[in-house]
Amino acid sequence: MKQKRAFKYRVYPTPEQQQILAQTFGCCRFVYNWALRKKTDAYYNDHQRLYYKELSILLTDLKKQEETHWLNEVSSVPLQQALRHLDKAFLNFFEGRAKYPTFHKKRNTQSATYTANAFTWRNGSLTLAKMSEPLQIVWSRPLPNEAIPSSVTITKDCADRYFISLLVEEEIAHLPCNEKAIGADLGLKSFVVLSTGEVVGNPRFFHKDEKKLAKAQRRHAKKKKGSKNRDKARLKVARIHACIADRRRDFLHKLSTRLIRENQTMCVESLQVKNMVKHPTLSKAISDVGWSEFVSQLEYKADWYGRNLVKIDKWYPSSKRCFECGHILTSLPLDIRQWDCPECGIHHDRDINAAKNIVTVGLTVLACGESIRPGRVSSRSGKTQRSRKP
Ligand SMILES: [Zn+2]
Repeated sequence: MKQKRAFKYRVYPTPEQQQILAQTFGCCRFVYNWALRKKTDAYYNDHQRLYYKELSILLTDLKKQEETHWLNEVSSVPLQQALRHLDKAFLNFFEGRAKYPTFHKKRNTQSATYTANAFTWRNGSLTLAKMSEPLQIVWSRPLPNEAIPSSVTITKDCADRYFISLLVEEEIAHLPCNEKAIGADLGLKSFVVLSTGEVVGNPRFFHKDEKKLAKAQRRHAKKKKGSKNRDKARLKVARIHACIADRRRDFLHKLSTRLIRENQTMCVESLQVKNMVKHPTLSKAISDVGWSEFVSQLEYKADWYGRNLVKIDKWYPSSKRCFECGHILTSLPLDIRQWDCPECGIHHDRDINAAKNIVTVGLTVLACGESIRPGRVSSRSGKTQRSRKP
């Protein structure tokens, strides 16, 4: 089956290209913010919904006006794509995956998307619209053979680094089926706990990076506002942030690829469920970010390789239920890491027991839809669950 896959590389634009990009980013940001304002106003004032089609007509008008005539100086494609991005942001909002879209700021990561009619691709060299020469791309990993990008997105992050992401259609072979199923729980102390008993912690370097970040932030705060030194310090903070994000992403990719390769079925709780169960702490806020990224990686990788990912989005007492006998505790405070079941006497590690329950529920969901009753894991038809121990 053909799948769309993005390949991301570092690019080093020439000063001339940087100039064109700066202008394009600015126009994209302007159009995005303008459209967001239009859309919100139209809804509040006239209860009217504007989408890509309507906004695109309005954009054509906008470009004809004298005070916004400068929008014509950049390629029109990334501007159209900015409207598409806004549609996507609203879709994510309406489907509960994201907050209401906000205005794009100059200080944040900048981006512009070009579709096939706005770039030329020849033997691995890529030239964007309005540019006279190809971009200098660092090919850190090969593109699939004969791949032709269907769209490219160029970004500039807060650390002033440029990247290009190429969307490519690719044939990905499904992995041979196996019988393994695994449950994963977002750990309280470690990043993730698996039903096999494996605990995957946050790597040591995260802690080191965070210390470095705190130091740089203190330095930045001490510098005089508006000074050159403050700007330098800001860039330093941004570089450390970017470095942390890169390492974290790399760590998550390695983990998600391994788990999807090894197991036919993976079961996880959705973050909404997690938020209902666990209290907010600082470290939680950090691990949550990782968790939603981790789950979305599992999602698309499961799709590529023909695996099952079961997201449990209904509340189910995964921590408080004894995996062995099904007994449910009335309460289990967060500081209790280990407990003994009053019913069958078995000793539990809190997170491993939860992960085991998650895989049991996940397999039930997979086999028979949503007929889960807490306490007794069996389908409505009365079949007993195959993963359950006797
Ligand atoms: Zn028990």
